[in-house]
Amino acid sequence: MQARVILQAFYWDVPGGGVWWNTLASQVEEWSAMGIDAIWLPPAQKSQGGALSMGYNPYDYFDLGKYDQLGSVKTRFGSEQELRRLIQKAHAAKLQVYADIVINHNSGGALEYNPWRGQNTWTKFTPASGKFPRDKKSFHPNSIHNSDEGVASGYEQTDLCHKEAEVQDWLWKRPDSMAHWMKQDLGFDGWRFDYAHAFGAWVVKSWLTEVGGFAWGDNWTGDKWMLNSWIDATGEKASALDYPLYYALDNAFDGNNLQNLNDAGLISIRPDKAVTFVANHDSDAIANKMQAYAFILTHEGTPCIFYRDLESGEKDRLKKLINIHNTRAKGTTSVLYSGVDEYIAQRNGKPGLVIYFNQSNQWKSRQIQTKYRSVTLKELTGTGITSPADSQGRVLLKAPPRSYAIYSL
Ligand code: ZN
Repeated sequence: MQARVILQAFYWDVPGGGVWWNTLASQVEEWSAMGIDAIWLPPAQKSQGGALSMGYNPYDYFDLGKYDQLGSVKTRFGSEQELRRLIQKAHAAKLQVYADIVINHNSGGALEYNPWRGQNTWTKFTPASGKFPRDKKSFHPNSIHNSDEGVASGYEQTDLCHKEAEVQDWLWKRPDSMAHWMKQDLGFDGWRFDYAHAFGAWVVKSWLTEVGGFAWGDNWTGDKWMLNSWIDATGEKASALDYPLYYALDNAFDGNNLQNLNDAGLISIRPDKAVTFVANHDSDAIANKMQAYAFILTHEGTPCIFYRDLESGEKDRLKKLINIHNTRAKGTTSVLYSGVDEYIAQRNGKPGLVIYFNQSNQWKSRQIQTKYRSVTLKELTGTGITSPADSQGRVLLKAPPRSYAIYSL
């Protein structure tokens, strides 16, 4: 089942010392109560840097805080037992739990001679778990080919070769592979594929064919058609992070031209496969965040909220928007008005809503044709405004300066 609202349950350099899983476990019930129904965890495996690592430089995929390796038993986030308790607690609170899968590159191997490079490379991995030992033939170049299908990622020497049989077996094919273990034993419900632009989409397709689960790729591109093709290449099994929409939101709300919102993002061509966001641990450039959150939580796509924006930001306003998203933001989307300073869109389902963005420095009002007939619309963000729609659906709407108003039944 696809989540309605995902929370990215970490940010870069969360508190160390192995306390993060327990910190999250104390919050899952509150998040569930506000309408979040999935959490995305940071990469859980032991990585180069041990207890300091944020997990994006994996060493032992089967050490989730269990072996004394790379300087500690725990990962930065805690022990395997604490992770298991977090997942159980999240499930009890009706939250799905998504794993961050970092399989483009590895880090922390020992030196060995590499005939394909004619020099020593850091490609000898001897994990304490005893599972998925790797050497030069697991990486590029090797006897299979020089590189994989993705764009160069900057980790070429330890760029995993997914065509290599043992790599496939240990990552997702064997009954005791990482994917099977994380899904069946740990209880993860889905996957976020890190660096998905740097290897073939067939890897994600094969993984999901093997174990299933909701999944999205983190493809660093502003090209929505490229994302569309990538989704096709996963056999339509995976969604994609809507980076094109992220750039459009930045241009619209920080660049002060709301016309950037027209036909913007993957949501404009494939909303059912778009994971939308305003900020994450890699990209956090949008200053006018609440407008951007109001956009993703009233438009199509599956919104992903950034932990720091929720817990250190405007929690009450976000809670209100999550509630509006879950109860009113239904159906297709029609843009009712589009200008540089004003943008008005309607969600056409039941009960639906109309959102009115105003980027100017004074209140704006506009008579607009809506789907609502002979009813009174109520503004939902706290302005107290009510507006009658006439028998033709015409209604006079208002929006506060440099902000937004949301109208519904
Ligand atoms: Zn390869």
